[in-house]
Amino acid sequence: MKPNPCESCHQPIVAHEGVSYGSMECGYRLLCSRCFNETVAKQLGLQGFEHVAFEPVRMVDARGLEHEFRFRTRLFGPGVAIDAFELQGGSPAGYRFQVIGEPDDDPLALLGTLITKMRRALALTHLEDTEHGLQVNNGLVLRGTVDSDPDEHHRVPMVVIDGREVSWDELGRMVSTFEGWQFKLQFLDRSEET
Ligand SMILES: [Zn+2]
Repeated sequence: MKPNPCESCHQPIVAHEGVSYGSMECGYRLLCSRCFNETVAKQLGLQGFEHVAFEPVRMVDARGLEHEFRFRTRLFGPGVAIDAFELQGGSPAGYRFQVIGEPDDDPLALLGTLITKMRRALALTHLEDTEHGLQVNNGLVLRGTVDSDPDEHHRVPMVVIDGREVSWDELGRMVSTFEGWQFKLQFLDRSEET
């Protein structure tokens, strides 16, 4: 399928870069990230904002597996968010990271902060493949992201741990090996460090 072009600069929009921007009254336009950010910057009267498109980065996790991350920069009123995500079959899947800064922060410094955070996360493992299936490793901690499960119709989530999709059932089976133990479940915004 040929990607739709940006309605402002008319360049083709690469996977997951498009934003429908507008309002119910004035209609929506499909914009690339750069045009979206520049439009928002102009509306907010931000002088210092500079949109930088980052090239994909490859990083190796603690198991020796390589991950290719893409970046998306989005300006939203008081801040700018850079998201790092992997693509599988054209859709974001696996590890996701985010950093939030001020609109006039140096984009490369923000990217540096994000990459440092990604390195720290990729150096950690939480899961272990055993003959009884996936288990919590001897760190006894799980960190991950809550995602939706496209195959699940009962509104239960899927979680992503160590960049791997773990179904709610599978998580339940892993947790059941800790019967009688205590646990602590804490939710943090994607830009915070776990
Ligand atoms: Zn554009």
